[in-house]
Amino acid sequence: MPTLSDVIAALEVLWPPERAESWDAVGLVCGNPDAEVGRVLFAVDPVQEVVDEAVGLGAQLLVTHHPLYLRGTTTVAATTFKGRVVHRLVENGVALHVAHTNADRAAPGVSDALAAAVGLRVTGPLVPDPTDPDGRRGLGRVGELPEPTTLAAFAARAAAGLPRTATGLRVAGDPDATVRTVAVCGGSGDSLFDDVRRAGVDVYLTADLRHHPASEALQAGPPALVDAAHWATEWPWVEQAAAQLDDIAARNGWGLETSVSRTVTDPWTAHTPNPAPAPAPEDSSAPAPSPAAGAAAAPRSVPTSSPGAPR
Ligand SMILES: [Zn+2]
Repeated sequence: MPTLSDVIAALEVLWPPERAESWDAVGLVCGNPDAEVGRVLFAVDPVQEVVDEAVGLGAQLLVTHHPLYLRGTTTVAATTFKGRVVHRLVENGVALHVAHTNADRAAPGVSDALAAAVGLRVTGPLVPDPTDPDGRRGLGRVGELPEPTTLAAFAARAAAGLPRTATGLRVAGDPDATVRTVAVCGGSGDSLFDDVRRAGVDVYLTADLRHHPASEALQAGPPALVDAAHWATEWPWVEQAAAQLDDIAARNGWGLETSVSRTVTDPWTAHTPNPAPAPAPEDSSAPAPSPAAGAAAAPRSVPTSSPGAPR
């Protein structure tokens, strides 16, 4: 059985910590390097439900994409929710290791897993890492669909390929537009609009798109936008990462089991669609609907056939 330091050394070959952004907090959060590791759980978020899952599985290591502490702290007291996570981990002999922006930039990385989940053939990174002579590492990915399809059909395909969340996907653009080339970025991708436009793709799939960046991106021209839950865009990496560690464990003859958390840790837990518009009044002297009601009854965005895409 490997020690924690053996496993961490292997994970740091996959996702070298020095490739993380300078503001990031990656690596070992808690854990004894000499402890033996027999089971590893992979997840997106180091939240209480996931830590409970790790303890229930008898895991000695939890690997998450998101950091527990992104900024410094002066306390891990169990009077804080993050402190309770630390206590639960330490008291149960579970180490926590984070691979965040170093996993985003890796090849394969977070956006490779996202691209595969929605059926893209990756042609390269959206923002290449200048230190990679092979041109494979970097932020986001650009890829091609197997055949041209419509924006609505692509959104349905993405919704089917990603884990289900309460809010599903949001789509901006002409639902009947033909799409063939796609840029993807797991997690919050609204800082990459200039790169997406330069890539000349038909559609951009990412998460956390806000009103102003999305509105301005649409006004500036193609591509169409598909906005998924942040957690859903990064979850495919969890399976990819577990498979990578499985390969390493097999090569080293380690008796190591990996598990993938399927706990949905997207913070949004419900979605309430606007009510259907009221039938048009036959009496033309009836009062016109208020601007707010009119806006709710006439959404501009695209219906798709996906069960998770309510608008
Ligand atoms: Zn993220």
